[in-house]
Amino acid sequence: MVIEVASCGVCGTDRSIFRGEYEVAPPMILGHEYVGTVVEVGRSVTRLAIGDRAVVDPNVVDGICFFCQRGQSHLCSGLSPLGVGRPGGFAQWSLVPQTYAYPIPDQVPFSDAVLTEPLACCIRGIDQAKVTVGDVVVVLGAGPIGGLLMQLSRLSGAAFIICVEPAPGRHELARRAGADVVCLPGDASGALREIRGTVGADVVVEASGTLAGAQSTFSLVRRGGTILLFGVYPQGGDVALSPFHVNEDELRVVGSLNNPNTHSRALELMASGRLELRGVISHHLPLDDIAFAMDLDNFDRPGKVVIDLLAS
Ligand SMILES: [Zn+2]
Repeated sequence: MVIEVASCGVCGTDRSIFRGEYEVAPPMILGHEYVGTVVEVGRSVTRLAIGDRAVVDPNVVDGICFFCQRGQSHLCSGLSPLGVGRPGGFAQWSLVPQTYAYPIPDQVPFSDAVLTEPLACCIRGIDQAKVTVGDVVVVLGAGPIGGLLMQLSRLSGAAFIICVEPAPGRHELARRAGADVVCLPGDASGALREIRGTVGADVVVEASGTLAGAQSTFSLVRRGGTILLFGVYPQGGDVALSPFHVNEDELRVVGSLNNPNTHSRALELMASGRLELRGVISHHLPLDDIAFAMDLDNFDRPGKVVIDLLAS
């Protein structure tokens, strides 16, 4: 089907590709977090009709590799995502296979639905971390992703959430996302001690994408606890790990890639009204400003930057 794109979010992946750090075969239309209206359908399209609003799951898989056949299609060897391996959403129109287009519930505006893909990634992360009722959770990083991970932790029953964020300008946003305490990196252990004594957190969610953040998780997690490494870290970067500590304290260290089968959950959650999405998007820009949008240094306190192709 052809979707007339209304809005497309700018992801860290788009910025990495733009800087040449993440290789794709040019020419490529980037953008994989997009929503729009169906304007044309092929004969076999039954799920959506012309005029329907749709959000895209960009992760087009081959369906035939080892991982697809083991039900882990997000690890697909032939992954060819819209906006990375095939033309994406920074364009007026986009060709999308119907399997990868979801109808947007009536009560969800485009301006929220454009967050479906990152939200779906965060749902996968919380599933991987197994946040459960009564947990004390530490979230490192209060960007748009850290904020969503805090909201999902709260919805999963976390009793107490500590957010660690070096930029004081983001502390208020973290509180709105559900953090009970927001502190600077140097104060994280002290904040945790006030709640848990020397025990540590049940779950530590690393969403700053920094090696320093990843390193600090090992001093914050409790025995038997879980570390979720959710950020996009510099390739080839290392942190020191004590195998003795991991074994002796029975730590779980887990990753989270993409969003297998979580888009429809993200949409239902948005439709429920239980998420606070105000403030997650910090900037709306026209497509003409796409090059400007690719450099985060152009923004003061950036949250999610969204390119709007249609006036909403
Ligand atoms: Zn595959």
